[in-house]
Amino acid sequence: MIKALKLATALNVILLLGAGFSAASAEGLKVVSSFTVISDFAKNVGGDKISLTTLVGPNGDAHVYEPKPADAAAVAVADVVLVNGLHFEGFLPRLVEASATKAPIVELSKGVEPIKSAEEDHDHGAAGAEKEEHGAYDPHAFQSIHNAKIYVRNIVDAFCTADVANCDTYKTNGAAYTAKLDATEAEVKAAIASIPESKRLIITSHDAFGYFQHEYGLKFLAPEGISTDSEASAADIVALIKQIKEDKASAIFVENITNPRLIEQIASETKLNVGGTLFSDALSTPEEGASTYIDMMHHNIDTFKKAILGG
Ligand SMILES: [Zn+2]
Repeated sequence: MIKALKLATALNVILLLGAGFSAASAEGLKVVSSFTVISDFAKNVGGDKISLTTLVGPNGDAHVYEPKPADAAAVAVADVVLVNGLHFEGFLPRLVEASATKAPIVELSKGVEPIKSAEEDHDHGAAGAEKEEHGAYDPHAFQSIHNAKIYVRNIVDAFCTADVANCDTYKTNGAAYTAKLDATEAEVKAAIASIPESKRLIITSHDAFGYFQHEYGLKFLAPEGISTDSEASAADIVALIKQIKEDKASAIFVENITNPRLIEQIASETKLNVGGTLFSDALSTPEEGASTYIDMMHHNIDTFKKAILGG
């Protein structure tokens, strides 16, 4: 509550300061995106017709992000706010309220077939109540390229509604980018097809790849669930190590958004080598080679192949 008040106060100050020079449209449609994957889609659709602010930056963790006063200020003056939805951005309700924005909050996962959280089945007591708060669905829908195309379509619709004059440009850009996503999806399918069925069990930090698994057929296990906001219990870790040994996992990976310590511990207990870093819930900085969604997909499939097949 105190945080929300502080945010609201800081925002009032910023709004007062900014009152004299808002709404000049030379900068284009003012778009706020909740995290880097959405920002990349928005850039591809919006091109130079939009000015873009990203809340959770490269390698950031949206599950546990704490908004800053500048975020509320950006949301307050936005024309459109693009978010993932499915409770991915836990910070969002408070931020939207503090900003008092009039902009539409567009949930880009709308229209995807949501996957139920696997954790739900064995919840009980207090843990169950906590999971309820996260929502029963896995929010990482963007890890399937099939779904990414739905996100892009939703962005085209949102931009066309907010900026009718440039709708044709948004549609043309959206179609061109969707063609690139189609090509990337074919590459992902070919990469997975090259991995034998018996070598497709993979370990990561948290359950970020449920939609990738559903769409493309690798199988993922993780010590942490669909959010990073609660730590894995000792019993969960013991059970996971047992399963890794019994089911013969072929590779284990750290993620760019999480602390590698737990994965390194599991790797040493199971005698698996850490096969590299996967980009799960955020893109990288430009220097790290996964600063676009398509580069992230290439990086991840190359990392899988290298760790599992060698070379
Ligand atoms: Zn996640």
